[in-house]
Amino acid sequence: RLSERLTRVASYVEKGAIVADIGSDHAYLPCYLIHHQLAIKVVAGEVAKGPYESALSQVLAEQLQEKVTVRFANGLQAIKRDDFVDTVTIAGMGGPLIATILNQDIERLTTVNRLILQPNIHAKAIREWAILNEWKLVAEEILQEDDKIYEILVLERGHMKLSATQALMGPFLIIDKKNQVFRLKWSKESAEWIRILKAIHGAQISREVEMKKHEIEEKLKIVREA
Ligand code: SAM
Repeated sequence: RLSERLTRVASYVEKGAIVADIGSDHAYLPCYLIHHQLAIKVVAGEVAKGPYESALSQVLAEQLQEKVTVRFANGLQAIKRDDFVDTVTIAGMGGPLIATILNQDIERLTTVNRLILQPNIHAKAIREWAILNEWKLVAEEILQEDDKIYEILVLERGHMKLSATQALMGPFLIIDKKNQVFRLKWSKESAEWIRILKAIHGAQISREVEMKKHEIEEKLKIVREA
């Protein structure tokens, strides 16, 4: 059975899509997308040998090699022009890494009109990347599974503006600020920031740490106000 997290990612794939799943690991998501007739074709990209091999054997075991192509490649380099990929999924990594992957070979997104991204942490990095690169959020979701909290960000091409609060907490997520998981996420984050601020209080700190401290204080202020 696919995890709740990846099932929710899959729910944003539009029927008939051609998908590239970057950092696919075991290729569970690509196989699910084909079995549930959500995607007609999927490219599963992996940069690490172990995960690449487990993706290959999973696809063979499920006899989906006609519809799921596993490629050993760094990030978006798994996508070829004649794949006509229209949807990219990247799940289970930090927001900054996801943004780096998108930036590295951005021209590979030419045929793509939907990004479904599931950062484990720092979703803000993705929202900032989206603004700079003319993508707009069309949906966001927050969920909890096995004591971990995940966000899902769905982007389409277009322009958006976000306030500092929206960039940090998510323009769609903040609308539903009574949501239990949303509240839990930000109370946990705040507690961690307070712990860090206490730990460095009164200490001699470098310029770099000073900047980090300032950033944390700003974020804490935003979350408290929200
Ligand atoms: N997407 C799956 C999920 O959500 O369950 C797997 C997540 S796993 C934690 C992250 C995977 O991304 C690893 O298998 C890793 O090898 C792969 N990865 C990290 N950086 C990558 C990159 N630049 N290109 C392709 N794969 C990458």
